[in-house]
Amino acid sequence: LRPVSSNGTQVTVPQVPAFLAVYASEIDGLIHEQGPDGPDVGPLLAAYDLHLGRLVQAVADAGLGDRTAFMLTADHGVSRWKASVMPALVEAIAATGLRPEVVTVGRSPAPETDIVLTSNGVRMSNVYLRNAAAGDDGRAAVRRAAERVGHIPNVFDEGDLRRLRASDKLGDMALEAEPPYHFSLLDDGKDRGSHGSTFEQSVPVVLAGAGIRRRRRPLDGASLVDVAPTIAMLLGADPPADSQGRAMHRAVDLSVVRGRGLSGRS
Ligand SMILES: [Zn+2]
Repeated sequence: LRPVSSNGTQVTVPQVPAFLAVYASEIDGLIHEQGPDGPDVGPLLAAYDLHLGRLVQAVADAGLGDRTAFMLTADHGVSRWKASVMPALVEAIAATGLRPEVVTVGRSPAPETDIVLTSNGVRMSNVYLRNAAAGDDGRAAVRRAAERVGHIPNVFDEGDLRRLRASDKLGDMALEAEPPYHFSLLDDGKDRGSHGSTFEQSVPVVLAGAGIRRRRRPLDGASLVDVAPTIAMLLGADPPADSQGRAMHRAVDLSVVRGRGLSGRS
């Protein structure tokens, strides 16, 4: 076995791994900086495509093509941000007579602040209702202000946040601006990218190789929690004990997984 370079260190892998995860991290940072349409995004994706091709070829060259399955996916999507709605939102809330304040990371609101808005989520602002705004009137005032400002299509109240399984530290309400609008105080008109709202929840998943059935919808309503059980199925292993997901069973040909010894070689 030949040593391979792992981040500059020569490493010898003692045997063919049962499972190999390859994480492409640069694309996230690049899209944060340039936005999804940035000039360097296309060339980086083309380079990834080339490396993926090398990986698939290397598996074939090693004679493992008939017992190796491939899955390509992402942990989140991305959308563009360019124009802040925060100044207009603060103005619209102040016009109701309540006192808004935008609080950034590491800072605390003034005691007299009624409505605390966070700006660090970029696409999402968490809202904390205090003093005169605590309760339904404050909630209604925030809703009206968001409507007047526009570009804030999603206003989640406490019930919505519970359904989204949000932490109870995320406030009494949460607002989401539609791309390319945002809540950041950084408002220089430059294109950037972000994730962390319901606008970036869709991800691709591509399954290919040994044991994968072609032209099948792998699972209705498939989600990221289904990735681990699917990998387990391809390995011929039990799903993780605390798994919430389901294997994408329609895409997996179990006779191949069992028959060709795909397990332990995915
Ligand atoms: Zn990111």
